[in-house]
Amino acid sequence: MDAAVQGLIANLAMVGVFAAMWTLLGDAVERLPAWGRSAALGLLMGGGAVAMMSLPVVIRPGLFLDLRVSLVAQAALFGGPIGALVAVVVAGIYRLAIGGAGILPGLILIGLGAVMGLGVYALTRGQAVRRMDVVLLALGAMLVSLLTLVLIPTAMIETALPNLLVAVPAIAFLATLLAGLAMYTDEERRRTERLNQTFRQVIESLPEALNVKDLEGRFIIANAATARLMRAPDAASLIGKSDADFYPPEVATQFGRDEESVLRDGASKELEQRLAFEDGTVIWLSTLKTPLRDASGHPVALVTHNRDFTARKTLEQDLDRARAQLEGAMSGMADALIAFDRDGKIIFCNDQYRRLFPLTADVRVPGRNLRDVLRIAHERGEQAAMEPDEVEAWIETAVASLREEKDREIHLADGRWLHSRVRALSDGTSLSVISDVSSIKRAEEALSEVNKHLKQLAATDALTGLQNRRTFDEMFAKEFSRSARHHHPLSVLMVDVDYFKSFNDTYGHQAGDEALRAVARTLKDIARRPADIVARYGGEEFAIVLPDTDTEGATAVAELLCEAVRQLRIPNGRSSRGVVTVSVGIATGSRSNLLAAPEDLIRQADAALYLAKGQGRDGVQAFGDDQEQGGPTRNAGPSGFRSAS
Ligand code: GH3
Ligand code: MG
Ligand code: MG
Repeated sequence: MDAAVQGLIANLAMVGVFAAMWTLLGDAVERLPAWGRSAALGLLMGGGAVAMMSLPVVIRPGLFLDLRVSLVAQAALFGGPIGALVAVVVAGIYRLAIGGAGILPGLILIGLGAVMGLGVYALTRGQAVRRMDVVLLALGAMLVSLLTLVLIPTAMIETALPNLLVAVPAIAFLATLLAGLAMYTDEERRRTERLNQTFRQVIESLPEALNVKDLEGRFIIANAATARLMRAPDAASLIGKSDADFYPPEVATQFGRDEESVLRDGASKELEQRLAFEDGTVIWLSTLKTPLRDASGHPVALVTHNRDFTARKTLEQDLDRARAQLEGAMSGMADALIAFDRDGKIIFCNDQYRRLFPLTADVRVPGRNLRDVLRIAHERGEQAAMEPDEVEAWIETAVASLREEKDREIHLADGRWLHSRVRALSDGTSLSVISDVSSIKRAEEALSEVNKHLKQLAATDALTGLQNRRTFDEMFAKEFSRSARHHHPLSVLMVDVDYFKSFNDTYGHQAGDEALRAVARTLKDIARRPADIVARYGGEEFAIVLPDTDTEGATAVAELLCEAVRQLRIPNGRSSRGVVTVSVGIATGSRSNLLAAPEDLIRQADAALYLAKGQGRDGVQAFGDDQEQGGPTRNAGPSGFRSAS
């Protein structure tokens, strides 16, 4: 073989040696910043170029060849501009230092290597170097070496040329390709390792448990969080062990079943796992299990990710419990309970609410708006009847009332009365309690009925049904002052049944009561003007007030009275007339008889009655003006009275 070619092969080995050196050095410079690594690469490759220049292949005396281009180009491709610059500087300085005639072509060659390397580097756009780039670089090195040969003056290499034209580019190509691939592979390995490192760090620093188990459930990989979860001293102590080594048997069995089911189904699965330790601690895990497959798709391992969500689970359980309690309380309460949101939408309600409104129970559910519910209630005739033009106003009032703390009464078409009490809450929602108050309402009505009756009883006399003395006093006082104010005459008639004691004695008390009732009816019949007051004054004595009636009028009424009683024809053996009769005393308040108080008028009527009795009974006496002073006595003469009988 040609000595020159042999020398070139030695050069090729040297390129390989420097590439190998870089892979060895690589670990040391791994921690340097990117520019530092590039500079180190440039330094190494520059050094390599120097080594080659110092051991050149002598083609002919004065004509040298070497593979410096390949190394400088590697520095540029893998180290970028910094790598290229450092390599060029190192190699260039050396080339200048050794001098000689080939100084310029030598420097050009170094520069060409750098330019070519940077050209391919530019193609990578800052990304990782690809195999393709290495091949391109090798082709470039081949072209440069070919160019070098072409540029050498033909006279210098006339004999060796044909051989060299093939061998030099081929070796340059091979050297660059092999060295480049070695460096590319090393770079790839290093990147994978860095990525691996990053993954490991991520997994390790993950606060949540992440681990990989083999098909028998033994840990292959586990992070620190897994060890904490399993109460193991560290992650390393988990490797090769399984759940059964750490968890109580029943937990390990359950977890094993979960894993079997994931492997059987072959798909990722999310599980809620309850982890109960022997000391009573319970942890809730949200677990994701994913089978890991080999290239042919067979599961080879199981990846597990656990997240401790005990806090959330506890809250959920508390919430469920509270909700159940609330629901229990709500369904146990007698009243209807409804919560509305700020728009009047039902948030929740109990069954009692639906039971209160049987015709619209289907629409009284969470999510429905009170407006719709009320409209439907009206359409279905559940609400007490209202005019069509009132409906919208009624609905708006009801919705607006949710914002006021107000009690309302709801009247339903079936006659029931409901009472609603609203409490507005701070967040705009409101709570309504509705109770059926129909029975209370009925009781109220009955009570007022009873009250009315009681009042009437208190106001009337039980035997005759006339106003009693108390009512008479009240009504008479009112009538008295009214008449005095308007200067209207007012007459009072005191009516007393004659010889009634004897009547009772003769016919009995029962008959006496009957006779009193008959007399009362008669009095009521005679004094029938609306303003007339007829009362039982006491015993067998009655009082009649005739407003707007003067003495003449009153006397006429009194005589009618006497006659009417006589016409009752109730036998009374002790009476000279043979029947029950009455005597009437009249007093009139008028301009000519100005009185200070109603009692005065009563007293005067009494006096007149006394006189009527004295004059033989069954007659009428009116109190006269001259009777004013001193009052009547049994001996008073008839002068002051006008007798009507
Ligand atoms: P005079 O003609 O003077 O009025 O004689 P008199 O017997 O009617 O008068 P007196 O005042 O002595 O008697 C009134 C009687 O009226 C006494 C009582 O027996 C009777 N009397 C009073 N209230 C009732 C009653 O509610 N029922 C009955 N049956 N009798 C009554
Ligand atoms: Mg009497
Ligand atoms: Mg009497």
